[in-house]
Amino acid sequence: MIQLFMPLNFLGFVYREIRQSLANIERLFGLLEKPVQVEDRPDAPDLEVTSGQVRFEQVAFHYQPERPILADVSLEIPAGHKLAVVGPSGAGKSTLARLLFRFFDVTDGRITIDGQDIREVTQQSLRRAIGVVPQDTVLFNSSIRYNIAYGDPEASEEAILRAVHLAHLDDFIERLPDGLDTVVGERGLKVSGGEKQRIAIARMLLKDPPILVFDEATSSLDSGSEKAILQALNEVSARRTTLVIAHRLSTVKDAEQIVVLDQGRVVERGTHRELLARNGAYARLWQHQQEHEPTTANASPNAGD
Ligand code: ATP
Repeated sequence: MIQLFMPLNFLGFVYREIRQSLANIERLFGLLEKPVQVEDRPDAPDLEVTSGQVRFEQVAFHYQPERPILADVSLEIPAGHKLAVVGPSGAGKSTLARLLFRFFDVTDGRITIDGQDIREVTQQSLRRAIGVVPQDTVLFNSSIRYNIAYGDPEASEEAILRAVHLAHLDDFIERLPDGLDTVVGERGLKVSGGEKQRIAIARMLLKDPPILVFDEATSSLDSGSEKAILQALNEVSARRTTLVIAHRLSTVKDAEQIVVLDQGRVVERGTHRELLARNGAYARLWQHQQEHEPTTANASPNAGD
């Protein structure tokens, strides 16, 4: 009897684990908002990333036909460079990231990576090439080690420790009772929004994609956490084509190119300094943020120059 019971008990355990993982994956995709299925073309080839140049060419998009979200958006992120998108809430910033990841297809125009229309290549190869650090990362009820390495179960200890270091997580992990083996998530240790985002950065580093999308958390983080994230972001984006969806302007001052989106249209582009001098939409956003979030890491308009 015991011989029968043991495997059944084990199967029950496996079943519960699988259910939990599926629930986590559903939540992950739920958070990334993936309501419709886009399909690969028959015989679609894999994306071949040669340098990692990303282009949005006159992109238009709507979720519902009666409500256009993006109109005539053209952007280019040269290989290895960083472009930041800013703009008021609802302007369409996160939608750009969802389109690049091909959760939806553009309604008009096209998005290319190294000249290949992303609708023409397999989704698997597209998503392998892009690392996303989402606004809100879902953690599995498991160890930090598992949460960092789940995309790459073969990852060596050395690679995990390097990712931890680059994501500025060393201090956080040193303070935990079981270090990397500390269980986090709903049933384990609660971690802050900033720590979660750094875990997502470490996860992305293990994947080591040529293209990075960083969707900044909308909720404000304490200034220590925000500083650690910005440092980590600057380091990990140094050699990657990076799209930053910025909800706070302190994140973007060092970006080579800032694009200001308003009601789905590009209304300004330039560097932080150029945009302030222009005294337009960006300068107004900056002014607004200084008045409402005066404690943000870099409060001087010239900071980061
Ligand atoms: P925030 O800074 O507040 O995150 P955002 O600029 O990133 O805003 P998006 O998330 O891109 O804005 O949303 C742009 C518009 O599209 C908003 O009006 C939003 O309500 C709408 N929208 C977003 N996702 C969907 C969806 N899945 N279905 C329908 N409308 C959506």
